[in-house]
Amino acid sequence: MIITKQRQDSKLCKGLKFLDKRTRLNEEYRKQLMNMEKGIRGEELFDSLIKKYLLSDVLVLHDLLLVHSGSTFQIDTLIVSSSTLYLYEVKNYQGNYTNASGQFLTGSGKEINNPSTQLKRTETLLRKLLQDKEFDFDVKGYVVFTHPNFYLYNATEEDPFIFPPQFEHHFRSINNQYKTLKTDDYYLSDTLIQLQREEAPYQKQLPDYVYSHFKKGLNCTKCGGLTLILTQRSVTCHECKHKEELESTVLSNVEQFIFLFPNQRLTSNRLSDWMGETIGRH
Ligand SMILES: [Zn+2]
Repeated sequence: MIITKQRQDSKLCKGLKFLDKRTRLNEEYRKQLMNMEKGIRGEELFDSLIKKYLLSDVLVLHDLLLVHSGSTFQIDTLIVSSSTLYLYEVKNYQGNYTNASGQFLTGSGKEINNPSTQLKRTETLLRKLLQDKEFDFDVKGYVVFTHPNFYLYNATEEDPFIFPPQFEHHFRSINNQYKTLKTDDYYLSDTLIQLQREEAPYQKQLPDYVYSHFKKGLNCTKCGGLTLILTQRSVTCHECKHKEELESTVLSNVEQFIFLFPNQRLTSNRLSDWMGETIGRH
């Protein structure tokens, strides 16, 4: 198993996280951040299962953003295995859901889109893209539910779903095909990586913010907490107890500033204001 494209940190998620710790995010954005973080945890879990169970000669591409005829589509994970493509849409839903004639109902009765609709769209666009580039690959699409506490009523065998108790069996069935990779597989992987689209500019998707509304001070690189206990060379977070070298904490706080205010000049006054007076004393 070779990972030819790693998953990248979402800049939007990163920005929302920074804002959440230093400003007051409204409910809508806070919910968006929580959903994104939950999705990321599901993807991380899925990635670790791939590493654990997928032993065969395959290429793995995470997080592809592609366009066909003006339609953008995103693929959570794609496995390339000798003329077959396994396409995965990862969902980290939690709790009881019901599959009610095409719609999904949450435990509280809220209707959400059936993820297989999204999967079908992605599959169709990928097939068209492959045709366009003259690749002859079979595409098999799945929706993967990663959360151990997820249960779906009315799921049928025909649904393209994979549930946690089925992961091992699914990957073993790919392993059991005993195929070796061909030149075309590598060529396809390279082509898809080259066709990658940039994520929409994160600044445009973040809520408006102004410097004066930010809580200042050095913050913890792990949880974002602003109560740090400083010693000569290290910092310890009062909230999560994470301990780190002072230098790397300062660097990451500078990076936060650059990320949030890419057009502002970096001056030592600005930075000492951003990170708080505590730094000046050490
Ligand atoms: Zn912390």
